[in-house]
Amino acid sequence: MRIEKVDVLIIGAGPAGCIAAGILQKNGFSLKIVEKEQFPRFVIGESLLPRCLYNLEKAGLLEAVKAKNFQRKNGARFIRDEGEICQFNFSEQYTDGWEYAWQMRRAEFDKTLADEIQLRGVELCYQHGVESVDFNDERALTTIQPNVGEKYQIESKFVVDASGYGRVLPRLLDLNVPSKFPPRTAFFAHIKDPIREEGSELLTEVVDLKGAWTWIIPVAPGITSLGFVGEPSFLEQYGNTYDEKMYRALLASHPKLHERYSENLVFDFGPESIKGYSISVKQMYGDRYVLVGNSTEFLDPIFSSGVAFATESGATAAETLTRHLNGEKVDWEKDYAQYIQQGINVFRTYVKEWYTGNLQTIFFAVQKDPSFKKQICSVLAGYVWDNTNPYVKKHNRAVEVLAEVIKSQKTAV
Ligand SMILES: Cc1cc2nc3c(=O)[nH]c(=O)nc-3n(C[C@H](O)[C@H](O)[C@H](O)COP(=O)(O)OP(=O)(O)OC[C@H]3O[C@@H](n4cnc5c(N)ncnc54)[C@H](O)[C@@H]3O)c2cc1C
Repeated sequence: MRIEKVDVLIIGAGPAGCIAAGILQKNGFSLKIVEKEQFPRFVIGESLLPRCLYNLEKAGLLEAVKAKNFQRKNGARFIRDEGEICQFNFSEQYTDGWEYAWQMRRAEFDKTLADEIQLRGVELCYQHGVESVDFNDERALTTIQPNVGEKYQIESKFVVDASGYGRVLPRLLDLNVPSKFPPRTAFFAHIKDPIREEGSELLTEVVDLKGAWTWIIPVAPGITSLGFVGEPSFLEQYGNTYDEKMYRALLASHPKLHERYSENLVFDFGPESIKGYSISVKQMYGDRYVLVGNSTEFLDPIFSSGVAFATESGATAAETLTRHLNGEKVDWEKDYAQYIQQGINVFRTYVKEWYTGNLQTIFFAVQKDPSFKKQICSVLAGYVWDNTNPYVKKHNRAVEVLAEVIKSQKTAV
């Protein structure tokens, strides 16, 4: 079988893989990306956080994305009950950093990154899927099966697994660990939305349905991504077919959604469903590999944190790997795994407290008394490594305690 040689093989050309490639290429390593699909391809995850821009800039990919003029996202708005609103503007946050992000069809965003990486001379082969990987003391030997043509092998010093939901190395090396969150389902579509409330196109909106929630993301002019997320037992009160009929029934279940979207509903894409997406791993790295992006852990879509993690882990892995390949002694546990785990742990607390209802208690209280709003806004912007923020550093207790204080004040009144 034919054998190619590179310093680093990257599996997957999503945001995690492209960010890693951008940094490793700048640092002078020979690379190859193998991507199972042909881009553009659909992937869910259409609302970004400002922290993504920091990593895009590091990888030299920011200007290419800016040039696309994707829909700007200035913040997030949470809506409950009879239209009660809590709005977080990223320009009003605690941590110093980017104050906006974008919301767009991921197919277009991911292709922008991949095209730019190719323009910079990185070899990216579409429709080349990984079949197996064999590691020894000296190298990794990966067997690739292209859609068309003969199998071949790639010998590399290191493998970066950025295969997202494909979870190539977690599957091959038996690293998958089930999530502690109950399995939830997302049921979503892109729908025509020609007349938006002024300013709402600059926000991602979340509507609390008490038992489930809905995202509303303006992904393109006149097109909105609208998805329902909940445990199957909740969603399946409205059917179990996950088709247009069930989607219409869910929309009709909430007066505001019904009023805004039910009449003249036209589907641009979907509806589609994804079930049981939360997953974790036993370890994030090994002697000749590192897992980045969704290959590591995916928590929940509620705070749109997936691409922020994909880019942060892609960047951190690439920087750590650069030092490793340059012969420096690297502490992968501390420099990579613990660092990424800190961010995951912070978001895990916020996800957990969203589903306990404590976070809604806080959101709708800080709307009236904004003393803690800036700190919480920074978490929602993806700045979950800023340990000067008490709602990052002491996330374990801070969120719960604040919710308890708010609840006790309400009881006292
Ligand atoms: C319902 C839902 C809603 C979400 N909403 C958001 C959101 O609003 N904002 C957000 O930031 N995140 C969101 N996410 C998370 C987001 O989808 C992911 O976190 C993000 O796509 C991860 O990027 P990645 O680069 O790790 O993987 P991906 O984007 O999945 O890219 C991985 C690539 O690897 C390729 N691949 C897979 N297997 C192989 C193989 N064997 N060989 C070669 N290539 C392979 C795939 O084809 C793919 O192109 C959501 C997730 C869910 C489930």
